[in-house]
Amino acid sequence: MISKLIIFRVLFLSITLLPGLSLLAQKTDSLIGAEYVDKSLYKTREVLPDVYGVPEANLEKNLVQVKGNLYRHTNGTLPALHSGLVLITKEGAIVIDPALTQAAIWLNDEIKKRFNVPVKYVILTHGHYDHAGGSQIFQQAGAKVIVQKNGLEAIIGEKLPVAVPDIVYEKQLTIKLGSETVILNHIAPSHSNNMSVVTFPGYKAMQLTDIGESNTMPYNDFLDFYYDGWIETLDWALKQDVNYIDVGHYTPATLENIKDLREYMIDLHAQVLSLVRQGQSWDQLYRNVKFSNKVKKWGGFDSMSKLNIAGMYRWVTNHRRGVW
Ligand SMILES: [Zn+2]
Repeated sequence: MISKLIIFRVLFLSITLLPGLSLLAQKTDSLIGAEYVDKSLYKTREVLPDVYGVPEANLEKNLVQVKGNLYRHTNGTLPALHSGLVLITKEGAIVIDPALTQAAIWLNDEIKKRFNVPVKYVILTHGHYDHAGGSQIFQQAGAKVIVQKNGLEAIIGEKLPVAVPDIVYEKQLTIKLGSETVILNHIAPSHSNNMSVVTFPGYKAMQLTDIGESNTMPYNDFLDFYYDGWIETLDWALKQDVNYIDVGHYTPATLENIKDLREYMIDLHAQVLSLVRQGQSWDQLYRNVKFSNKVKKWGGFDSMSKLNIAGMYRWVTNHRRGVW
């Protein structure tokens, strides 16, 4: 009797659920590798003031086509420019790094106006305020915000005035939306421990924010820096079949630029390590690091070169011991 009842219930449920299942099958929107955040845990969290949220009428903002449905948004002017890729699909848009609240307000409206689709996903390349800022604007309008798992702690812990992410992932997350595919990859700690390198297989394009450079110097003293993982990430990037790389700033890079950057960082690390092992103090050491003529021509060389040495010196001295 009981077993008959169970069979009846299973049959009944299958018949009533089937139309729903076939509807689901028709939807092309899917995420592979996603974990969903319980945002209620952070409802009363404290946030710092959104210092770049103040409207600035003179801020330059652009959304330009890269190829096909792939676009690049920028705000600010060189060298103080932030950027991210945007993919427009018939089922909605995917935006990488809004970067500033005031730019996000504009970008959200611009996408709606030009393409008549909502923003469905906002990908944060990492949980730093200057790239994640403005994500709350898209979330309030219905988009889901995604960050690599370690980024959640950084956003909450640093009290960043940005969206609490809806979705996190560990190593890889694939988004399928409107017959397009976008892949988020967490290779290793590099510039922060929560970097996502995003690839667009249909466009041979990559988002390599704050890890890649385009004939420009890495920023300041390598803040939030992991040297080993950075090289590992560059090695991974160099193996990808891409010909358009947005680095989140400046102008887009080529694989050749990424190769040059890798060479520069390995050389800087080797020089600093060797000088430290010779017993040189900081005061001696920073005067003895040599830069190639190629690197001397990179954007920001004059302001960043000594800071780069300082950052590498900090990493090197934190990762050696000697006889004791
Ligand atoms: Zn950053």
